[in-house]
Parts: sequence; C-alpha cells; structure tokens
Amino acid sequence: MDFELDEDYRILQQAVREFAEKEIMPYGQEYDEKKEYPLDIFRKAAKLGYVGASVPEEYGGAGMGCLAEAIISEELTRADSSIGSAIDLAVLGVPMILRFGTEEQKERYVPPVVKGERPSAIAITEPDCGTDVAAMRTRAVRDGGWWVINGSKTFITNGSVAGHTIVVAKTAETDPPHRGISAFIVETSSEGYEARRIEKMGLNCHDTAELTLKNVRVPAENLLGKENRGFYQLMEFFNESRVKIAALHLGMAVGAYERALEYAKQRKAFGKPLIEHQAIQFKLADMWKDIEAARLLVYRAAWMIDKEKPSPPLSSAAKLFASEAAVRITYEALQIFGGYGYSKEYDIERYYRDARVGTIYEGTSEAQRIVIARSLMGKVRK
Ligand SMILES: Cc1cc2nc3c(=O)[nH]c(=O)nc-3n(C[C@H](O)[C@H](O)[C@H](O)COP(=O)(O)OP(=O)(O)OC[C@H]3O[C@@H](n4cnc5c(N)ncnc54)[C@H](O)[C@@H]3O)c2cc1C
Repeated sequence: MDFELDEDYRILQQAVREFAEKEIMPYGQEYDEKKEYPLDIFRKAAKLGYVGASVPEEYGGAGMGCLAEAIISEELTRADSSIGSAIDLAVLGVPMILRFGTEEQKERYVPPVVKGERPSAIAITEPDCGTDVAAMRTRAVRDGGWWVINGSKTFITNGSVAGHTIVVAKTAETDPPHRGISAFIVETSSEGYEARRIEKMGLNCHDTAELTLKNVRVPAENLLGKENRGFYQLMEFFNESRVKIAALHLGMAVGAYERALEYAKQRKAFGKPLIEHQAIQFKLADMWKDIEAARLLVYRAAWMIDKEKPSPPLSSAAKLFASEAAVRITYEALQIFGGYGYSKEYDIERYYRDARVGTIYEGTSEAQRIVIARSLMGKVRK
C-alpha cells in the first residue's frame, strides 16, 4: 500500500494548480456578480486537457482515469468554488454516454464537450420529484423511427448552455416503476426543448435551468443503452458522478481553509494574531483533519473506479463526507474572517454559499446514507 501520488499525478496537480491560480482565481467575484457561464475559461481548460481527463484518448480525452479527474476537480474549486465547479461539471452527462453509448454516439457527442465546444447536461430531477427518481412523469413514446418526449425537468446544470442533454424519461408503466425508465441523448437545438435559467443562493456562474420538453422528437438511435434500463444506468453513473462532486467539494473546503489559515496568521486581536488564540487553532485543526479524511475517501473511491471495482457505498461515503465537511469548513472559515467574512471584500462568503449545495445535489446526504445503509443490509454491493 502506498499513500503517495505517482509522479504523473503530482505533475498534473501542479500544472492544474498553476492554471487555476492564473486563469480562475482572479475572476471568481466577477463571474459571481455577472452570473454568467465562464465559457472562455472552460475553453482554456479544455485546451489543456483539464476537461474530461478520464475520457479515453480516442474520444478526445486524456485517458487518465477517475483519480486524475478528482485531482483536477480539487484544484479547480480550490482556486474558485463557482468557476472551478462550473468548468468541471461541463462533462456531467459524458460518463453515461461512455458507459452505455454506441460507438457512433460516443464519437458524435463526447469529443465536442472535451474539446470545449459546448458542455453536456443530464436531466433527471423534475419539479415534483428528485430523490424519488422513479416517480418521474416525463414520458417518451415511440413513434416509428423516433421517440417523442414530453415533460419538465428542473435544476438542470448546463441545461441552456449544453450542446446535448441526457434526458431520462418513463418509457413503460411498470410495477415497480423504476423498471420502465430509459435515457436519451437530446440535442438542445431540438424543436420543443426550452431552458430557463434558475436564480440560486450560490454557484451563480453555473447555468442551472428548468427544462420544458414539448413534443421533442429524438431519433430512435439516440436511445442510450437498452430500453427500460435507465434507472440501473443511473445507479452506475452515480458511482462515478458522486466521486466527482465529492472532489469538487473537497477543493472548496481546501480553498476556504487555506484562506482562513492565511487570514488567521495576519489578523490581530487582543495584541496577537488570531492563530495564537486556542479557539481559532481548534477550528483550523478540525478543518485540516476533515480535509485529510475527505481526501482519503475521495481518492479511494476514485481508485476503485479506475480498478473497475466501483463501490456504491464508498462513492456515497466520499460524497457525503466531503460535502458535509465543506459546509462545516466554509462556515468556520467565514467565522474566522469575522465581519469581513460576511462582506464581499473576501472570497469566503462565496465559498460558504457555493459549498452549501453539496449536501443536496447528486443525491442528498439522506440519500447517500440510504445507499450506505442498504449496502450494510446486504441490498447493494459493497
Ligand atoms: C444547483 C443544483 C444543481 C443541480 N443539478 C442537477 C442536474 O444537473 N441534473 C439533475 O437531474 N438534477 C440536478 N439537481 C437536482 C438535485 O439532484 C435534487 O435537488 C436532489 O436530488 C434532491 O431532490 P429534491 O430537490 O426534489 O428534494 P426531495 O427529493 O423532495 O427531498 C427533500 C428532502 O427530503 C429528503 N428525503 C427525500 N426522500 C427521503 C427518504 N426516503 N428518506 C429520508 N429523507 C428523504 C431529502 O434528503 C431532502 O432533505 C441540482 C440541484 C441543485 C440545487
């Protein structure tokens, strides 16, 4: 057993750090205020191979695996919680295509994302159901060589900037209902696909959208994998996507911790730097401890995927722990900054707002605990 990163990973980490400090860090507040998707920065990152590093080389990626992608995610959000995560989530729908798509689908839809042309999206959540995926109401009905999709989706990351969206819809009435769900690649230029941006507490530069799908006609060849297997595909997809979200939130925690540590060394109270006060030392010690633990979980869950032994409870544990740690750490970091933490003068208030969603999207903390508990009960593989 070796806890050191191999040299290739260390070189990658250093290179992404330099890129992120130069091209992302200075623009965090600007993009937060203008609430604009950072397309230009996404393109720069893609050019350097930092978008979709785990995508195989034949589809334009770096073929470096999930651990490499986690290292990149951490560095991007360490530099800025909003821009970093927006760029990193540009490949959101891609693992579904790589895992279940035909050769033609992979060749057509993956390279444009990795090259930085347009991000991808995946639409599962609906206005009336999120955690309870199988309760979805969006329907896809076969019509000759086409599928016709009707319904609405909400909170869809990249919903209006994406070139394609993986839309998950009901294709059969079954009991239990999760056996009648399928996934489709929908081009966002399709007639009847409408996206409306949603205002949020944080992640302001993300494009989070509500979708209306009105008689959207999708060619039959855009069905992703087998008909009625969509729910099971999603469960496999989450193993990977949850590690990505965990790594993003680990990076947010690191970014907030480093800024708080620096501030605590400089700011004085009662004649000595804040860091000389034990109450502040304890906060920083807890932050450091949580970051170390989160990183171990993230790296191990990513490593398991690279070894083709994905572990649902481990991916869920990484996501659960890293996102909850990021919420705690950004909260305490803001506390260390005192009144300045609450002002727009420093990045911390943004990190605090941006980190909060980590316990909600890609499955809430409660949903992650359900996955872990089901595996303890022998209902999900370990
Ligand atoms: C910024 C942002 C980006 C997002 N991006 C995407 C995206 O790209 N694609 C997409 O499809 N979705 C996306 N989502 C949606 C997100 O995945 C859902 O919000 C999330 O899965 C929770 O669903 P919900 O909001 O419907 O909450 P609900 O499912 O209604 O849950 C409400 C509360 O009840 C709890 N709860 C529900 N069921 C149980 C249970 N069985 N036991 C215990 N507690 C339970 C939940 O944990 C939660 O606390 C995004 C959300 C946000 C905020």
